[in-house]
Amino acid sequence: MPLLHTVTEYIGRFAPSPTGPLHAGSLVAALASWLDARAHGGRWLVRIEDVDLPRCIPGADLTMLRQLADCGLHPDEPPTCQSQRSALYQQTLDNLATRGLAYPCACSRRDIENELSRLGREKPRHGERVYPGSCRHGLQGRPARAWRLRVNAGALPWTDRRLGPQAQDVETEVGDFVLKRADGCFAYQLAVVVDDGAQGITHIVRGADLSDNTARQILLQGALGLPTPAYLHTALVLGANGEKLSKQNGAQALDTRNPLAALNAAGAVLGLRVTGASVDDWLAAATAQWAATWGPPGRA
Ligand code: GLU
Repeated sequence: MPLLHTVTEYIGRFAPSPTGPLHAGSLVAALASWLDARAHGGRWLVRIEDVDLPRCIPGADLTMLRQLADCGLHPDEPPTCQSQRSALYQQTLDNLATRGLAYPCACSRRDIENELSRLGREKPRHGERVYPGSCRHGLQGRPARAWRLRVNAGALPWTDRRLGPQAQDVETEVGDFVLKRADGCFAYQLAVVVDDGAQGITHIVRGADLSDNTARQILLQGALGLPTPAYLHTALVLGANGEKLSKQNGAQALDTRNPLAALNAAGAVLGLRVTGASVDDWLAAATAQWAATWGPPGRA
């Protein structure tokens, strides 16, 4: 009898941005998404999110894939790259614009700051300014720079499998958000939603630093008639300054010469206590532990 049930369909993914090699924090997201897919008898894809080209490091994608392979994390299909998919993002933006859901914006950062201070609303939220909607009703003769989604939703409730009930009023907390940037790059929010939809992703498992994006992504899924996946946002590895570990606060490239040490450290962040003589043994034991907490109901 198999240990794990196969759900009707589960497709998960790990979607790193190739801004450098994987570090201890990115392995946590990779491992959690892999374990969740395996615990559900599902498929696990890797998508290289190289849509923000100015931030990407040439060759980092191959380094990340090798690091994943060293840790026994092999995607079930060849990885896809967002840089190859601009035509689909443009088509989606055109569709939203034709339906009046996306509009061009002429505002520079300075324009937005000026407008917010004119309105007495300069206090940024998490350092990000809430777009005041200046171009909602037209560009007033100014040239278009970016494209934004028109947001009129009120509080949007959603449930995270680990964090429980969440809610965000995107209109008042974020504002009409960018779909295509002034530098011509498609925004993460658009690319991630289009690709999750196109790849039939049913479950998203990623770091808790991304949970704040989820309400925006759910709104966009709704605008595009796409289903909303299940979400699980994992604990984060913190850097010396108490913030999420990142290259900016000193994250070292993950050393996969000793993959069991790397997996043990990532597993500990996920609350797993696993021993294994080989990477495959470790992953099998970790999958069983993960399934006991996060696996499908009615597991044997
Ligand atoms: N590419 C994003 C990042 O590396 C993650 C996207 C996602 O998992 O939704 O932060």
